[in-house]
Amino acid sequence: MNVLVLNAGSSSQKSCLYNIDTDLPDRPSSPLWEAKVDWPHHQGAAELTVKTASGTVQEALETNSREVVLSRMLTTLWEGKTQVLAQPSDVAVVGHRVVHGGQDYYESIVITPQVKETIARLATFAPLHNPANLEGIVAVERILGTSIPQVAVFDTAFHSQLPLPAAVYPIPYSWFSKGIRRYGFHGISYQYCSQRSAQLLERPLDTLRLIICHLGNGCSLAAIRNGRSIDTTMGFTPLEGLMMGTRSGSIDPGILLYLLREENFSGDELGQMLNRESGLKGVSGVSNDMRQITAAVAANNAQAQLAFDAYIHRLRSAIGGMVATLGGLDALVFTAGVGENSPAVRSAACETLAFLGLELDAAKNQQSPVDQDIATANSAVRVLVVKTEEDWTIAQECWRLVRS
Ligand code: ADP
Repeated sequence: MNVLVLNAGSSSQKSCLYNIDTDLPDRPSSPLWEAKVDWPHHQGAAELTVKTASGTVQEALETNSREVVLSRMLTTLWEGKTQVLAQPSDVAVVGHRVVHGGQDYYESIVITPQVKETIARLATFAPLHNPANLEGIVAVERILGTSIPQVAVFDTAFHSQLPLPAAVYPIPYSWFSKGIRRYGFHGISYQYCSQRSAQLLERPLDTLRLIICHLGNGCSLAAIRNGRSIDTTMGFTPLEGLMMGTRSGSIDPGILLYLLREENFSGDELGQMLNRESGLKGVSGVSNDMRQITAAVAANNAQAQLAFDAYIHRLRSAIGGMVATLGGLDALVFTAGVGENSPAVRSAACETLAFLGLELDAAKNQQSPVDQDIATANSAVRVLVVKTEEDWTIAQECWRLVRS
């Protein structure tokens, strides 16, 4: 079964094609074809890169239209040196990562006209992401036709059983029924990493207390007990919680009131500041990228040091909160760009957890091994580095739904 996965961001579009056997393997297989489009400056010029075992294609496309870009990108599946399919109809199913499923979707679902309407309605909750996801769905319908099933896999779904006290905001309760509640994100990654952690620990998932640190450009934590998310740091939007690459994470809402009242900020200006000009980038003035922050720290840049320290301060205190919520901890799991690749962040996060009996193996940590335990043999808490596989998880969901 050829499963095409689309992962649309506000200024990027990633995609890959898996060929899955009649039996679903319990480990991710490598995609046959991978494509990425970036709109680096939102200015009508896209950069397309496609990779397969037989070659790489790189092209500049003079357009802002997602449909035009997708059309060109998908053509490389059945034409040219990256060809892996004989014809478009060899695609059996298309899976989309959809960021916000609101209170409507707690599981992956086959896309119907009604599902599209709901994803569009939920765009008010995720204005940067849901419209891009929908554009991808509509474009695939036009390019591949409506006979190929499409599946929506929601980033919020994994947190659907978040206990009410963790989901409610302490504001007038009438807002809760209007959808102003905590949803949580990065759920596709948490679903994969929790299952993979149980495999690595050789213990059933339903006996484990895990804290998973998904640290990429966006950063969040999830506290997972017996396979279920019981707390997470992102909330109504992916802006709550930890300090991130360009996002602020949680700040005193009084700051927003002050800026609205006293500095004449508009909603859009607040959104721009909190989503794009804050976090590591805002505090350091150097970059949103942890590699550049750590390089600047090594060069004694004081602002970069402050940004790193603030990031770690917030990460540690959020982990501490989750330990208390879980009432103990079996494993601390690091994943995504920073979590998988930054020994400095992992060791700083673990340093103050020694009171739990957690002991990092410094040499193993330094090597950033994939899917391995980096705690010492004596550590009372395991520490794992897990390579997240969001696209594979979407493909698995498609396989499951189409087969059933
Ligand atoms: P996204 O949240 O967009 O999916 P990723 O999970 O790919 O992002 O994470 C991207 C981030 O990972 C980069 O911005 C960078 O900060 C960080 N990163 C990637 N490689 C390294 C590395 N070797 N060391 C430290 N940080 C890294």
